[in-house]
Amino acid sequence: MKVYLDGKFVDSEQATISVFDHGLLYGDGIFEGIRLYGGNVFRLEEHLERLEYSAKAIMLELPLSRQELSWATCETCRQNGLTDAYIRLVVTRGVGDLGLAPWLCPKPSLFIIASKIALYPKEHYENGLAIVTVPTRRINPAALPPTIKSLNYLNNILGKIEARQFGALEAIMLNDQGYVAECTADNVFIVQKGEMFTPPSSQGALRGITRSTIFDLARELGITIREGNLTRHDLWCADECFLTGSGAEVIPTVKLDGRQIGNGKPGPITRKILEAFRERVLVDGTRI
Ligand code: PMP
Repeated sequence: MKVYLDGKFVDSEQATISVFDHGLLYGDGIFEGIRLYGGNVFRLEEHLERLEYSAKAIMLELPLSRQELSWATCETCRQNGLTDAYIRLVVTRGVGDLGLAPWLCPKPSLFIIASKIALYPKEHYENGLAIVTVPTRRINPAALPPTIKSLNYLNNILGKIEARQFGALEAIMLNDQGYVAECTADNVFIVQKGEMFTPPSSQGALRGITRSTIFDLARELGITIREGNLTRHDLWCADECFLTGSGAEVIPTVKLDGRQIGNGKPGPITRKILEAFRERVLVDGTRI
């Protein structure tokens, strides 16, 4: 496997980063998780725009322009002969000393990995996923804005560990006020009386690229969609629920904390959205 690392394509065994890199020492860096579908890098421009906003928010100067990043991303796929893949684009603060100071890190490190991804088992897309609410709360946006896709994922990892302890693959994380924020690596949507709702980023949700695709698809399908504060009660009483993410795509969710959501089966609106999403990923984006 060839990995893009700071301007070169190197074998994955040679793709190494310094132990003084602040991405490793402090989680000081940002990333994107992007999908390649049938030679189409899905919404690459939107991912690169989010990366630029993440960089701006942590005052990190990206080492490449939008065009150069786009080329490097596509070329990593081409070099590995991939037409379907999960792409991980990471920019770290780079090498510095053992103190926090990011201004002592003269050069960010940038690497891009394109590889296969293990999705949720197929049966969950057909029958729906059972998830749980975990005790770990999503970080307050005033402490770390969830809109920054940063290398600091320990909050989500604690949630993921708890989900596993409860035998679930994904979990609802509440914010410190008790509203639904998102899942450990996915956004959450509900359908209630034919309308769709998802928490706003101000409640602790990442502005997911899949999430924004759902807004577009819903509008095109004539389904009302809104951002709104959601409680667990809203999920308990929802007609339908589904999760979205570049890795998860659109996954129906039929149980929360052992309670059935709706009739316990993926609902008609979720199915419609999933179908539209599967078509959209092949055409909306950048051809490699
Ligand atoms: N929330 C979190 C915490 C995530 O890490 C992700 C990405 N896996 C998402 C939501 C979904 O975002 P996207 O659709 O851009 O992949």
